[in-house]
Amino acid sequence: MVPEDVKKRIEELRKEIEYHNYRYYTLNDPVITDYEYDTLLKELIDLENKYPQFASKTSPTQRVGSKILDGFQSVRHPYFMYSLDNAYSMDEIVEYDKRIRKLSGISEISNLEYVGELKIDGLSIRLKYERGELVLAATRGDGRVGEDVTENVKTIRTIPLILQKAVDIEVRGEVYMSHAEFKRLNSIRQRQGLPLFANPRNAAAGTLRQLDTSEVSKRHLDSFIYSLEFPERHGVKTQWEALRYMHELGFKTNKESKIIRNFEEMKKYFDRYEKIRYDLDYPIDGVVIKVNDISVQSLLGFTAKSPRWAIAYKFPAEQARTRIIDVTVQVGRTGVLTPVAHLEPVKLAGTTVKRASLHNFDYVKERDIRIGDIVLVEKAGEIIPQVVKSIKEERDGDEKPIKLPKSCPVCNGPVGKLDEKDVAIRCLNPYCPAKLEGWIEHFASRKAMDIRGLGNKLVTKLVKNGLLKDPGDVYELNVETLSKLEKMGKKSAQNILDQIEQSKKAPFNRVINALGIPMVGEGTARLLGEKFHSISELSRANEKELMQMAGIGEKVARSIIDFFSMPQTKRMIDKLISHGIGVIHELPLQKTRPLNNLKFVITGTLSKPREEIKNRLIELGASVTNTVSSKTNYIIVGENPGSKLSKAKALGIKSLDEDGLEKLISQLSKKKSS
Ligand code: AMP
Ligand code: ZN
Repeated sequence: MVPEDVKKRIEELRKEIEYHNYRYYTLNDPVITDYEYDTLLKELIDLENKYPQFASKTSPTQRVGSKILDGFQSVRHPYFMYSLDNAYSMDEIVEYDKRIRKLSGISEISNLEYVGELKIDGLSIRLKYERGELVLAATRGDGRVGEDVTENVKTIRTIPLILQKAVDIEVRGEVYMSHAEFKRLNSIRQRQGLPLFANPRNAAAGTLRQLDTSEVSKRHLDSFIYSLEFPERHGVKTQWEALRYMHELGFKTNKESKIIRNFEEMKKYFDRYEKIRYDLDYPIDGVVIKVNDISVQSLLGFTAKSPRWAIAYKFPAEQARTRIIDVTVQVGRTGVLTPVAHLEPVKLAGTTVKRASLHNFDYVKERDIRIGDIVLVEKAGEIIPQVVKSIKEERDGDEKPIKLPKSCPVCNGPVGKLDEKDVAIRCLNPYCPAKLEGWIEHFASRKAMDIRGLGNKLVTKLVKNGLLKDPGDVYELNVETLSKLEKMGKKSAQNILDQIEQSKKAPFNRVINALGIPMVGEGTARLLGEKFHSISELSRANEKELMQMAGIGEKVARSIIDFFSMPQTKRMIDKLISHGIGVIHELPLQKTRPLNNLKFVITGTLSKPREEIKNRLIELGASVTNTVSSKTNYIIVGENPGSKLSKAKALGIKSLDEDGLEKLISQLSKKKSS
């Protein structure tokens, strides 16, 4: 193809893909199959890679997210981004309506029209298009200055990169996370041992501030656009027309909006959505009514904080008061002990609640929550209700403190924190039945034995059927036992067995990591893998020998020795050894120190405990400090980074996310070894 043809084809593809994107995400009405869509996208990606001269900031390929951002630029809004006044009852709405009529001089009921809209519970966003192309997406911030989140917003499939008309336009709307996506995201985070998002709004806010755009793309944020700036420039005379016009341009507008002409209609609208709010796919926290006629809006104007022509009616808070009858302790799949409050049943957000999470024992201590206390419980999105606070004034002296468990309620094993900074108390018995599934998932994970086919669902089944009692049993599986499990054909069973066979070749440090020795993470496993040559050699190591190693302290050494002194461990490693795992490794592990002389600082929450990442950096030759200085070479940035990041930026220090770090390590390793 000559470049002219390529250019034409690229443009065609972009148009077509965006059209199908719109059909699928905005209209929910696709006209081609996923496969056909993927084929078009693949063709475009290939062409763009081959002909970078035709790159475009508004190409649908931008939606996948491939950039790692350093941070977010501040954006001064050209006009104040107002918030809304709130009303909490019908009476307040009546008052509001009276006030508006007086101010605007419209007394005839039927002459004042409102538009009722749902109040989406996300974050507000301002979008700017020039000649139909998205050029800026900014958060509200404090109303005057927000942040430029354009790259992240491009990954939101319902936000058009190119409009149906080449207009200059600014709109506002809400970026949100659906209930389903929120649930999915939290369940993944739970499995990874990451802190859960309290509600869809926090999840959406956290996601929009991610520095890794590909992660944002994976989290499937969504949008509703509800406001057109400078409507007169577009010949738009009412809010209703504005909604329609924006819809025509390709934005996703909310279908539940409605013209409202009188009180009965208003009341009906409120009642309806208060009742069905949890049946919607997306979170709402109220409804908004807006004066429909733009000329009346202009007449009414703004107060310092909000427009006079609109008001939000907020649904009553989803909190309830009740009493804690008892507290029990649950053991999660990673061994975390969670206190759970048993409550006097209470109605909350349409369901009867009998239990609520107390998060962890630090939370209980900080808030001084006791058994017998009257407490406030809250339901945020769809996760289980949580105890927000206890009401101390209601105490009569019979309340009992919630005690720290002395042993695991499932296996009676010892409990404790993995390191000082950890808030979670865990069962430290590696053989606790509550942890078996989690342990095997860890064993099969990418940084351990890397057995992809052994996914969570299959692990659950295998454990339930008694086929896996410890990770050593993985290598005892065969086609017969596997295919006997429902929905598993011979072919897929063989597939998994092939992967299991393949995993025997995993490098020794990953085998050590896979063992799940308490307090031994990926970093420590690497250290051990450098020094020892087989599981049996490691199992014979004494405390002194271990503690002589840089990066291994007394606690870790003790934990390793305790682990290998357990009879169950002996049984498990015998199984592994009999299958040739962890026998002798000949391949020299990373002996060089690719990060020699480099200084790192870490900020924010990473996918793994910070200690683990720190250990690994140290092991590769780097030093890791807590404060940023001009000597710092790199700052590793996780979620919700702290002030260290701004300091680092001011000093011009390079920032990396975890992927960036991996890339740096592999680059430098190559250099050293060549
Ligand atoms: P609040 O933050 O509770 O004061 O409510 C004001 C916010 O509601 C605005 O800044 C918007 O982000 C949000 N909002 C959600 N849905 C709408 C809507 N349909 N119209 C206007 N604002 C909305
Ligand atoms: Zn236990």
